[in-house]
Amino acid sequence: MQRAPNLLNTADHSRDIAGLTYVYPVVSRRAGGVSVGINLNPNNACNWRCIYCQVPDLKRGAAPPVDLEKLERELRGFLRELTQGDFMLQQVPPEARTIQDIALSGNGEPTSTKEFEQVIELIGRVKKDFPLPAHLKLVLITNGSLISRPHVQAGLRHMARMNGEVWFKLDSATGEGRLRINNSRMSLKQVHAHIRLSASLCSTWLQTCVFNLNGQPMSSEEIRAYLDFLKDLLQAGVPLKGVLVYGIARASQQPEAKLLSRVDRVWFDQFCGKIRKLGLEVKPNY
Ligand code: SF4
Repeated sequence: MQRAPNLLNTADHSRDIAGLTYVYPVVSRRAGGVSVGINLNPNNACNWRCIYCQVPDLKRGAAPPVDLEKLERELRGFLRELTQGDFMLQQVPPEARTIQDIALSGNGEPTSTKEFEQVIELIGRVKKDFPLPAHLKLVLITNGSLISRPHVQAGLRHMARMNGEVWFKLDSATGEGRLRINNSRMSLKQVHAHIRLSASLCSTWLQTCVFNLNGQPMSSEEIRAYLDFLKDLLQAGVPLKGVLVYGIARASQQPEAKLLSRVDRVWFDQFCGKIRKLGLEVKPNY
């Protein structure tokens, strides 16, 4: 396989760094080690368009058909390189020389692929052939909009048997907010139902991106709606693992990029504190 030209760091998530179509290495600030990324959207297509999205030339649409043989070849090749080759030594700083997870996180919504269930099965099969850490997780980073599809649910059931985790995007609990941030028209009722479904099938964390828009953080009404929504989920007995709250670390590739900036650290910590007060675990990533 082609070698990465530079030492990877947390700001370098280039999908083609290893010269592969589906598999890419990331030293992840979220995961705290090397994450084996799987990008099922090499066409840069997503059914949403988040204003902070870092995918260049993002298009609205779905993932193209997955070449499962190629994906298996790439995954085997890369896991071999990580476990038997000198990739770690050559490309990864000493403090991050551990394989943290395999993450379905690409240039679009991964569950939009028709082969989603087969992809999960494939990962499970390939994983068994390598001496990987017992705690290795399989993470699905998703906007959660397609979880009502039976083959996505089947994939989540399979993930649950593989130390799987779903990171389910929730940036706003108002229709206006989701339209503004995600360009999504999903109703709150649907979002609630999809989170509930996800959490019933596989361990589920919510992931919330916070930022200033035109210099202003989330309004107090937005914060109230967001916290009320979390309360509703808890009261309904939805077994959430917690909330991953993260700031914008890398530049958006969307036309709104200039309107976005990082929230103030104090604001960020207070926001996380409000979620913790509900009794939920928060993993902050400023
Ligand atoms: S859901 Fe993810 S890939 Fe899709 S537009 Fe939003 S940030 Fe980008």
